[in-house]
Amino acid sequence: MEGTSDRVLSGKLVHEDSYKRKNKEILIDDILKLDILDKDYVREVKISSKLTEPDKMQLYYYLFYLKNIGIYKKGSINYVKEKKVEIIELTPEIEDKIINTLIDIKRITCDNKPPKLNRLPYCTKCAYYEFCFVKEDDI
Ligand code: SF4
Repeated sequence: MEGTSDRVLSGKLVHEDSYKRKNKEILIDDILKLDILDKDYVREVKISSKLTEPDKMQLYYYLFYLKNIGIYKKGSINYVKEKKVEIIELTPEIEDKIINTLIDIKRITCDNKPPKLNRLPYCTKCAYYEFCFVKEDDI
């Protein structure tokens, strides 16, 4: 559904516009699509810092995955709108959080029915909004 999201599209345009001359996305094991990989950092480009927690978890997961295949990097998130860069590093606590999140994801995907739907403040901006709320909004 991300293919039809205006927000995802504008993110792609910002990314292409900001980095088209220097960088190419890198696909690792057909799982991770890294915006930029350099000597010390995996660098992600985001339009704005409205969803910093999910942005960080995404990048922590990339760092965690890479560490498990023997590649040690730090993370950098470039927020284009705010012209701000956030540097992150894996810690044992963060690795535990990633592992617990992966266990949670596995549990949810193995359940017979989806978890109870909660409308969150950022749902209307999400690429999956129609998937989650189409029935409710049609009534
Ligand atoms: S629209 Fe659905 S997938 Fe998106 S944040 Fe809300 S509940 Fe989550």
